[in-house]
Amino acid sequence: MVPGRFGVVLPPAIPLPSDEQVARRLAQMLAHDSSQTGDNATTDRLMLMLTRSCELRCSYCFVDVTESGWREPHPGTLATSSLDQPPVGDLAEATARRAIDLLMSSPKPRLSIQLFGGEPTRRWDTVVLLLDYATSHRSRQGRELAIQLTTNGLGFDAGRLDELAAAGVVVQLSVDGAAHGNRFRRPHLTPQDDADTRWKAAVTALASGPARWFLNVTVPPAAAGELPNRYADARAMGAPALQLNYATGLRFSREQAQAYLRGLTGVLVDHARAPDLQLFNRQAAADPAPLCGDVLCDVDGTLLQVGGIFHEKRFPALRRAYVHGHVDTAERWVGHRATLAQLWERTRAALTEEETELFANGMAMGAASDLVARTVRALVG
Ligand code: SF4
Repeated sequence: MVPGRFGVVLPPAIPLPSDEQVARRLAQMLAHDSSQTGDNATTDRLMLMLTRSCELRCSYCFVDVTESGWREPHPGTLATSSLDQPPVGDLAEATARRAIDLLMSSPKPRLSIQLFGGEPTRRWDTVVLLLDYATSHRSRQGRELAIQLTTNGLGFDAGRLDELAAAGVVVQLSVDGAAHGNRFRRPHLTPQDDADTRWKAAVTALASGPARWFLNVTVPPAAAGELPNRYADARAMGAPALQLNYATGLRFSREQAQAYLRGLTGVLVDHARAPDLQLFNRQAAADPAPLCGDVLCDVDGTLLQVGGIFHEKRFPALRRAYVHGHVDTAERWVGHRATLAQLWERTRAALTEEETELFANGMAMGAASDLVARTVRALVG
C-alpha cells in the first residue's frame, strides 16, 4: 500500500483492466446506449448554453468561450443558426423557452435541465427567468424535474445561492483542488487573486448554506496522478458530493492512463472504507465521456449532442456531425438525439484518422474507469 496525501491509500493488489477488457466493455457500452439519456433511461435531459462568456480560460476546456456577444441575446432563429461555426451571443429567453417546451413534450416520467456555458451565472437574469418558467411549466404535469447549474463559482453571492436553493437547483461547482492547481490550469481574465478569493468564498458559502451542491473536478493528462489529492481536497472543503473526471480531447499516454486509473482505484477503495461524501464515480455505467448522450440547445437554438460543444476547438467538424435540428422546427423532443453507437459512427465519418484515434483514447478512458468502479465494488463493496 502506498499512502498518498491526506492518507489516501493506493492498493496495488487490485489489477487494472487489460486492453481487451476495455475494448469489450466499450463495445458493450455502445451497444447498450446511454444509461442516463438513452431510450431505456427514465429521464430526458436538456442542457442550455446560456452564454459563451466566462471569466476563466481553463487549459483543458475546448468550448469556444468568448467575450464577444456577451449580454447580446442571439436572435435564435433557424435562418441565423450556424452549422460550422460556434454562434456568438447569449441564449435569448424566447429560444430557451422553446427548448424547455420541447423537453416538456418528452413522454418520460423524469426530466432534467442543466444550465451550462461558458459561465451561466454571467446571465443571472436568464437563470432566474428560466427557473420560474421550467418549474411552473404547464406540461410538466407533476413530473420530477431536476435542475443543475454548472459553474466556476465566481459569480455567486449569498442572495443568488438562496435563489438557487429555493428553486431546488443542484450546483455543480468546478474547482481544480487547491489554489495552486487553479492558478496553473484555470487562468482568469482579471487578477488571479480575485478569482481565488471568489471561488473560495463560493465554497464557504455553499458548505454552510442551504443550496445542494457537489464538486466537479477535471484532471488533464499532465495531472493524471493527482486524483487522490483532488479527492482529499474535496473532503477538506466539506463537499457533500464529488465527481472526478478525466479531460477529454487530450491524449492520455499508457502511463498517464494507468496513473489516473490507479488513483481512481485508490479513491474508490478509500471511499468504501470511509464514505464521508457521495462519490458519483462509484456508480458505474456513465457514458464514455467524449460520447456523452446529452442534448444541448446552443445560444442560436441549434440542438446538438453535447460532445459537439465540449470539443469545438479540438474537433470543429463534430459540431455539424452532432446537430439534430433547431428549436424552430422541432415539434417534439423524441427524435432529437442519436444513440451512442450512431454518434460514434458520425464521429468516425467527421474526423480524420488521427483525430478519431485521439477521440477513441478518451472513450477507452471512460470504459476503463467504468471497469475500475465495477471491480472495486465487487472486491471491496
Ligand atoms: S471549463 Fe468552464 S470555467 Fe473553465 S473556461 Fe471552460 S466554461 Fe469556463
